[in-house]
Amino acid sequence: MIVTRTEDEINKLREAGRIVGLTHKYLQQFIKPGISTKELDRLAKAFIESKGCTCSFEGLYGFPGSICISLNNEVVHGIPSHRKLKEGDIVKLDVGACYQGYHGDSAWSYIVGKPNCKKDEELLKWTEESLMNGLKAIHDGCTTGDIGHAVFKTARKYNLGVVRELVGHGVGDKVHMDPDVPNYGTEKKGPTLHTGNVIAVEPMLNLGTADIYMLDDNWTICTDDDKNSAHFEHTVLVTDDGYEILTRRDVELDPEDIVK
Ligand code: MG
Ligand code: MG
Repeated sequence: MIVTRTEDEINKLREAGRIVGLTHKYLQQFIKPGISTKELDRLAKAFIESKGCTCSFEGLYGFPGSICISLNNEVVHGIPSHRKLKEGDIVKLDVGACYQGYHGDSAWSYIVGKPNCKKDEELLKWTEESLMNGLKAIHDGCTTGDIGHAVFKTARKYNLGVVRELVGHGVGDKVHMDPDVPNYGTEKKGPTLHTGNVIAVEPMLNLGTADIYMLDDNWTICTDDDKNSAHFEHTVLVTDDGYEILTRRDVELDPEDIVK
């Protein structure tokens, strides 16, 4: 069942989403060679909790971290560890925050320092473009197939591999809810979305094959050919004539949260 949110619920989802956007802005300051992914995770947890939220992914299905941090050929669900970021790495931060029982979920990909090659830069640019084109398909009465079709079409224009095993989802009083929002689909097919529904759209696109496997840690998902992968995700509210991004990135940090 796809839940239609009340105004009060939407306001809580807006606040959760705002904190997720802020967390990305806060963490971006620390994305430099030499920092460990565990330290980024610690900073994320401290920041999210300082804003009156909890980390949605901490302990979710047993996840051993506060946010997911995946590098290069890792697609999603990377566990924070003592590994250090290196110049040219692609680092994906998947951040979830819960405010008064309601969640926000947004992943973003970043290049550490200078990119290793133009292909990596293009991968990020094109995956973000796929996300944005997916969002443009959203309005009252659209289907999840309309969104998936728009994401897939953009990804294939650039010859990127589209991960099929992992999908976007409804967001609300749980971080993963109905409906599934695949990154492929047929227009006018799939569940219909209406004003007041809240979903996360999250293309995971690869420079090579779409195929993936799971590491022995039972969490980290990697590309089969070890080529790089990117992940971009926003949580959005469906509106009468479009959508509202709840995990906006144009939010302003408080002065005390800016690293001098
Ligand atoms: Mg996410
Ligand atoms: Mg998600």
